[in-house]
Amino acid sequence: MKKIDLRSDTVTQPTMEMRQAMFDAMVGDDVYQEDPTVRQLEETAAAVLGKEAALLVTSGTQGNQLAVLAWCRPGEEIILEENSHIFLYEGGAVSALAGVQTRTVPGVRGAIQPEDLMKAIRDDDIHHPDTGLICMENTHNRAGGAVVPPESMKAVYEIAKECGIPVHLDGARLFNAAAASGIPVQEFTQYVDTVQVCLSKGLGAPIGSILAGPRDVIERARKWRKRLGGGMRQAGVIAAPGLIALTKMADRLAEDHKHARQLAQGLTAMGLQIDNQVETNIILINMVKSGQDREAFLRQLAEQGILAGGMGEEHVRFVTNYHITAEDVQTVLDTVQQMLKQTV
Ligand SMILES: *Cc1c(COP(=O)(O)O)cnc(C)c1O
Repeated sequence: MKKIDLRSDTVTQPTMEMRQAMFDAMVGDDVYQEDPTVRQLEETAAAVLGKEAALLVTSGTQGNQLAVLAWCRPGEEIILEENSHIFLYEGGAVSALAGVQTRTVPGVRGAIQPEDLMKAIRDDDIHHPDTGLICMENTHNRAGGAVVPPESMKAVYEIAKECGIPVHLDGARLFNAAAASGIPVQEFTQYVDTVQVCLSKGLGAPIGSILAGPRDVIERARKWRKRLGGGMRQAGVIAAPGLIALTKMADRLAEDHKHARQLAQGLTAMGLQIDNQVETNIILINMVKSGQDREAFLRQLAEQGILAGGMGEEHVRFVTNYHITAEDVQTVLDTVQQMLKQTV
């Protein structure tokens, strides 16, 4: 039985082309900045994202943390959307590593609202921490892969610039936002100073993220990466599949979105409650509103070879990715249909 793995787009395995590119990669010592394949990836990524410079990092978490470390000093405060990955899922690293405190604001489908942002930015007062950084997330994971529109990012960026505060984008799935909206990636990234994108999620690379931004900030991040033990040697074997991910895999994300919509439509037709709009590759089924026992649902799916995960208290999360075919979508729908028949 083929496993249908909907737990995440991180489960994607490198394509044959990626594996061949790893085998063939020209390499050197990247701590000396002598790995030609890493340099090529970093230059290509900077160009794709419309930034001066880019850095290959081990993970999305590392990229986000390096941004905070490069922009902030201990004792500063960073502003985050309250369901953001940096706030919820990075082990408190911003406090543990950068020594900053967090201030969260509510989001509307993941988007920070200008009026909330203005209230959260600190004024010049001897009692207050300084606001060191504002972070956005796009697509927004907890909001169910929601696309934050460029106009919304622009509003945040303009306020930040008026106050002289840098802006970072956690763009782990930014290419999904571009594929779903038809809006080029640079129309999003023009409204941030630094951006992190994951090569290892829907784009399919085995390892790695990119942090891109102004050259001086990226050089500070490079030093922090070394301090954290992230200075890699012949990292061209990682960069080679990363280049394929960056240049060849973004366009096919629309297929994952189509499959997610088909799944969502089918599940809705069976009476399950889906809480998000399913703009990209994430589906959040509300098991409480659907009148289902989440653990039993997940266990029964797993018995049929279909893997999914829980999110928050109430949701089951399905994430489509390039291993999921149109046939798999049908198999999942048929299986869920059978399961629901048995529970009534
Ligand atoms: C996955 C993810 C990250 C972290 O990436 P890792 O490579 O798992 O460290 C950061 N932000 C968002 C929104 C993510 O979905």
